[in-house]
Amino acid sequence: MQPASMLVGGAWVDAVAGEREDVTSPFDGHIVGTVPVARAADATRAIDAAVSGFERWRRTPAHERAAILMRAAALADERAEEIANIMSGENGKSLVEARGEAGRSGEIIRLSAFEGSHLYGETLPLDANKGTGFDKIGFTIRQPVGVVVAISPFNYPALLVLHKVAPALAAGNAVVLKPARSTPLTALAVAQCFVDAGLPNGVLNVVTGPGAEVGDALVRDQRVRKISFTGSTAVGEHIASIAGIKKMSLELGASGPVIVLDDADIEAAAHSISLGGYINAGQVCISAQRIIVAESIVGDFLDALTPKVQAIRVGDPFAADTMVGSMISRGEADRVTASIRAAVATGARLVTGGEQDGSIIQPAIVADVDPYSPFAQDELFGPAVAVSTARDVNHAIELANSTAYGLGAGVFTNNIANSIHAIREIESGVVHINWTQLWRADLMPYGGMKSSGIGKEGPRSAIAEMTEVKTVIMHGTPWTQNQ
Ligand code: NAD
Repeated sequence: MQPASMLVGGAWVDAVAGEREDVTSPFDGHIVGTVPVARAADATRAIDAAVSGFERWRRTPAHERAAILMRAAALADERAEEIANIMSGENGKSLVEARGEAGRSGEIIRLSAFEGSHLYGETLPLDANKGTGFDKIGFTIRQPVGVVVAISPFNYPALLVLHKVAPALAAGNAVVLKPARSTPLTALAVAQCFVDAGLPNGVLNVVTGPGAEVGDALVRDQRVRKISFTGSTAVGEHIASIAGIKKMSLELGASGPVIVLDDADIEAAAHSISLGGYINAGQVCISAQRIIVAESIVGDFLDALTPKVQAIRVGDPFAADTMVGSMISRGEADRVTASIRAAVATGARLVTGGEQDGSIIQPAIVADVDPYSPFAQDELFGPAVAVSTARDVNHAIELANSTAYGLGAGVFTNNIANSIHAIREIESGVVHINWTQLWRADLMPYGGMKSSGIGKEGPRSAIAEMTEVKTVIMHGTPWTQNQ
């Protein structure tokens, strides 16, 4: 186990005050590494480095930026197994899931490099504006915003770091990354790929430490032009309240609905929900949390879902047959257990699962859930689904829209009219027909409505939000004078 350092100005450094802390396995508590504990002074130092890194990077042609990113992508591919092991160690997710996540890293970087080579502008048809003739030419150019602060959560410690860092760098920005306190080692291993690929000093900086102190210092700094945050709605609201005038994308929490209508393929719906409700121990913003089933088929649906959920193997993240590992901490597992107990105490029925052993929870199905109760309305972020019933498609959509959130939704139906109705009416950033919301192609626009946030990720969307459009007007001799 190597003590890790932070990345500031191209150097691997300790915190200014010299503090360090352990990173531990949420599964068995063993120490997997140590990292510096950054404070506000470290945040300022990282932004200083990013400001000078940006001066060089913004003058680096797109083809040179793309070449460096392509080398970083190749390194991320080469190191995928090593990164997966680091991730399982500090996050507790199964090695199978970690391999899946690490295996996407190279592709996210490549997709970003491609989009960073397509910073097109447009020509403006100024003569269509009354009073303007052919004497002027107008067009737009896209330029990087400058310093981007990327703040990421624990649940996908490589993927969600790369969905910020790769598009930001591809577009010519400098970045200060603050990864989740519980999963800094994955972020540092990912950053190493960019350094080894030849990224100039200061263009990517990584500070590890407490969100409240380091995050606040980064968010408040007036030299930062864009904040790209993924995390809880509470922290997102706080960031929005202190950031000042900056571009901002906030990818926040959810309580994702899945509708199963009476004309759906019940077996297919149950299969998809047995994945979508439990992958990553339910710690996914697009987890299938609220299952809203047509009254007439709820018995058959539960009969189909129960054995599939019981077949999910949970346990030691590194065991070959483990599909789902531990939650991020014992405290989080205690919180989910308490939520399930509170739901059952107020009339819901535990169909299966819910037993807790340290930070592991057996995948649970909770039925007869009041769709307006906290168990449905609040984000659970754990391995359980809440099953409620709906009278018809309109009632199901009403329930789907009944929470503060709107990130992802799934609808199971074989009726085209119902599909179209649901696509139009569901308040959600992404809608899936005949799959749950737990599905993402890295290139697609991805982001929420309502309290699930603002802005979209996915390389093309992220680059649009990490660049400024500059309008240019060239004034020539008035046209009429030349006649
Ligand atoms: P969190 O909000 O606790 O932390 C996220 C990040 O914010 C961490 O790096 C943390 O250190 C930092 N932070 C904490 N306080 C801060 C402050 N005052 N200023 C700036 N930064 C601060 O979230 P988490 O527990 O790591 O992740 C789980 C949450 O993330 C869930 O709510 C989940 O839905 C959400 N999430 C959303 C998406 C999405 O795409 N919408 C994806 C993944 C996770």
